[in-house]
Order: sequence, then C-alpha cells, then structure tokens
Amino acid sequence: MSAIRADFPILERVHRDAPLVYLDNAATTQKPVAVIDAIADYYRLHNANVHRAAYVLAEEATTLMEDARTACQAFIGARERAEIVFTRGTTEAINLVANGLSSVCEPGDEILLTELEHHSNIVPWQMLAERSGAVIRAVKVRADGELDLEDFYAKLTDKTRIFACNHVSNALGTVNPAAELVQAARDAGAITVVDGAQAVLHKHVDVAALDCDFYAFSGHKMYGPTGIGVLYGKLDRLEALPPWQGGGEMIETVTLSGSTYQRPPYKFEAGTPHIAGAIGLGAAVSYLNDISRDELVAAENELVAKTLSQLRQIPGFRLVGEPAERSAVISFLIDGAHPQDVGTLLDQQGVAVRTGHHCAMPLMQALGIPGTVRASFSLYNNAEDADRLVRAVDKATTFL
Ligand code: PLP
Repeated sequence: MSAIRADFPILERVHRDAPLVYLDNAATTQKPVAVIDAIADYYRLHNANVHRAAYVLAEEATTLMEDARTACQAFIGARERAEIVFTRGTTEAINLVANGLSSVCEPGDEILLTELEHHSNIVPWQMLAERSGAVIRAVKVRADGELDLEDFYAKLTDKTRIFACNHVSNALGTVNPAAELVQAARDAGAITVVDGAQAVLHKHVDVAALDCDFYAFSGHKMYGPTGIGVLYGKLDRLEALPPWQGGGEMIETVTLSGSTYQRPPYKFEAGTPHIAGAIGLGAAVSYLNDISRDELVAAENELVAKTLSQLRQIPGFRLVGEPAERSAVISFLIDGAHPQDVGTLLDQQGVAVRTGHHCAMPLMQALGIPGTVRASFSLYNNAEDADRLVRAVDKATTFL
C-alpha cells in the first residue's frame, strides 16, 4: 500500500500537524500523478478541438480522447467502442437514459427502484414518471442494509418497464446481487439500468456478463477527474434512444428544415466534449490496469474488516448496515450524538469523513435515522489511517 500512496501527492498534505487522513473516497477519490500529468500534458502539448480537423494537434487530441474510450470499453468489458458514451458523470448518464426512455412508459407502467438508491438514481426516474404517467415502486431495504429480495420478486411484475438499482451502495457499502437482479428484471421484460458509481473501482465490472442494458459510472470516483463519466448502453438500446441534446458533433447533416443524427456514441455527445477529462479518465483506467488491483482490493477489504472490529469495541459506536458483502464503506452513529458533530470532532483530529444523508434520503427515512457518519476507504488507505480513525472516534465519544 505504501507504494501506491506515493502516487497520490495530496496524501502528503499535513493538516493539524499530522498527515491528513482522507476517508471520504465514496464522495470522490484523490488523483495519482499519472492522471494529473495526462491532463496537464494534454493542455501543454496537444490541446485542440476534437474530430473534423486535418491538422496535427486536432488529430492528436482526437486520438487521445478516442483511445480513452477504447480503454473504458475494455475496462468494463463492453463489446463495442460505440457502447461507451462520455457524460459528465453518473448523474448525467442516468438522466440521459431516463430522458430517452420517455416513450417506453405509458400511464400505469412501473419503474422499479430500490430504497438503497442515491438521489441520482431516483430523481431522474421521478421526472420520467411525471412526464409519462408511470408509477415509481421501490424494493425495500432490510434493517441490515440488504435489499429485501422477497419484496423485489413481489414488486417485479409484467408492469415493470424499467428496473434501476445500484451495484454498490454509497451510503452503507452494501454490494447488491446485481447479476441476479438484472437477470430477473430482464426475464420480466424490463429495461435494466445499473448505477456503478461505487463499484468500478473496487470490483471487476463486466457489463457483457452482467447483461444489463445500461451501466453508469463517474471518473472522479476511480482516480479520474471530475466532470467526466461513462454511460454504457447495449448498442441496440443506444440506437433506439433519441438524442437528448442537440448541437455540433451529434449531427450527420443539418438543413433549416431538419437534421439527421450520428450513430452512438456521438449522437449523445453534443458540443465540445470534456476532452481533458476523457483523457484523464483514460489515464485513470491505465493506472488501474497497471497496479495490482486484486491484491490492493483484498488488502482494502481486510483493512475495512479490521477497522470495523476495532470501532465496535468503542462504547456508543453503532454500525449502520451489516450487509453480507461490504464494499469499502463504514457507516455509523455514536449514541446520543448528531452525525454532523461527530464529523466536526473527527476533522479537528485531521480525519476527513462525510456526514449526513449521503444523497440517500429515502434510505435514511427507511432506516429511521437522520443520517450517518461515513468513513469510506480507497486502495491507498493504510493501517495508520485506520488507527487514526479509531482513535479519533474513541476520543470523540468522550466529548459527546
Ligand atoms: N450513484 C452513486 C451510488 C453515487 O455514490 C454517486 C455519487 O456519490 C452518484 C450516483 C452520483 O455521481 P456523480 O455525482 O459523479 O454524478
């Protein structure tokens, strides 16, 4: 782990006279030198607008950006490059799909979600429901943070047009049985959408094997830059989806009486894209391909499990969610204390965690709590980070 830490310059920052302990990786991850340099090199050496130009800079910029698309394709096991649409992130990817699926929903049709979703995988579907007259239903979450599969099978019916769920929960770290859910939903005739924002870094995602129709993720949660992400869609699904923004890049021909559109992915990439972002994302994928990711994920799992068992020894510590398979997230409460106060006390000890509802208000409502304190780990966190967290929580409990 110490080898990988050296790749992330920000981890050398000192805060309150000690190295900063960054445990808010589910919100965004830090960036390795390889990504920072790829972005800087693009602006320093290759900057030009992409596509449709004959000069060398434009060709280089186009090649770099399209190579990044190819890297993303391989990273998630998509069959075709055309299945990789660059978006601003997971949120925009899901909005793109929800917008495009307006015509598949009729009044009374159902969109099945889960109580475990991030707002990004709820609100776009509510907007689609408002436009179409479809009805939102949600699979219940159990007190242990697992989806209630009996409820899933009860709510999955021939009325279910769309099923959307996350692969890994950002709020509790629950790893959902995505393959089982997707297969059942597909068998029921639903279009399947998987929010992979929290999965792509910690798991090997294979969209072809998962066989979902759409899969979304954000670059900034996997060591890439902000403002760039991917919507994967099966090619026939993307072909069937109407474009959602009009402008340059996405057209084939334009006359004043009408326009024809490019094929995917360009049909969905109107305007000048986030070229530097895509190149940075490509660099993040290369970085992940070059490190021993499996070993690091195994070490991360061990660290999270060990940290959790130490936190459990602290009087007043209450874990929120006990999923059978946990990703790198520990969500908790301290008896009698507001999560925000705990977060502030941890910050005073140089430990950065997130507090609140984690953009999952329906989940907090289902669990009957206002929010949690969330420590989320990444591949560069080490035993010292974990010790500092445990000591900081222990000390915080003495103040509260
Ligand atoms: N879905 C999940 C599970 C997330 O954790 C997040 C971000 O925290 C999102 C969606 C939204 O991602 P973004 O803000 O990058 O679009």
